[in-house]
Amino acid sequence: MLTITFLGTGTSQGVPMIGCDCAVCTSPDPRDTRTRASIYVETPEAAWVVDTGPEFRVQCLRERLRRVDAVVFTHAHTDHIMGFDDLRAFCHGARDLPIYASQETMDDLKRVFAFAFTGQSLFPGYVRPIPHIVNGTFSIGNTEITPLPVKHGRAHVNGYLFSRGGEKVATYLSDCKEVPDAAIDAMRGTRVLIIDALRHREHPTHMNVAEALAVAKRVEAHRTWFTHVCHELPHSQTDAQLPAGVRVAYDGLKLRL
Ligand SMILES: [Zn+2]
Ligand SMILES: [Zn+2]
Ligand SMILES: [Zn+2]
Repeated sequence: MLTITFLGTGTSQGVPMIGCDCAVCTSPDPRDTRTRASIYVETPEAAWVVDTGPEFRVQCLRERLRRVDAVVFTHAHTDHIMGFDDLRAFCHGARDLPIYASQETMDDLKRVFAFAFTGQSLFPGYVRPIPHIVNGTFSIGNTEITPLPVKHGRAHVNGYLFSRGGEKVATYLSDCKEVPDAAIDAMRGTRVLIIDALRHREHPTHMNVAEALAVAKRVEAHRTWFTHVCHELPHSQTDAQLPAGVRVAYDGLKLRL
């Protein structure tokens, strides 16, 4: 059993965008309000978040999160890390919090949040990160987590495949433009694929809807959910036009796998 809650499904600026009066930014449909992309993963043994964007605190309150045993980071763009300090809520009682990230992402986290990594966290009430550099498959509880390096402009991003008992349960690829063959092979047959689909127009660092659909087809995912969506994709209209098995995720959506 693995449950995924979409904490956020929006692109870096969020939806609505500041100062925009377009139909999506002013939509009454709650699914057209998208905080920055992140997921919460629960299993019987452990719970963790993938990324901590600027609305992490708001997302925790909305979903009434009480438990975070670890944090996994995809990359260090600001829309994925700026809620880091609110992890202090999960370090009560001087509890250490394991942080999983690539060397490059960990270096950025240590630079941006130096205070958390250099001793202030010895005082009660601060976040207490314990860095774990991700070089290959690692485990949280009974879930095996395999990093999938993908290309996202100049940034190196790790997507992640979550497997339990040898079954590929879910794959999270929030920010990517190109998915190398090795990553496709690793995630082939995953029950659920969560993938970057920014908009219909092409973008230099994110996949558009057509590119995301092409990857979903190669992966042979049973079900695909789009995330990291911008204000050019109205939820209900986009969702209705997608092929069977492919849907647009929204904030608060829960997948019980
Ligand atoms: Zn992003
Ligand atoms: Zn707009
Ligand atoms: Zn990014």
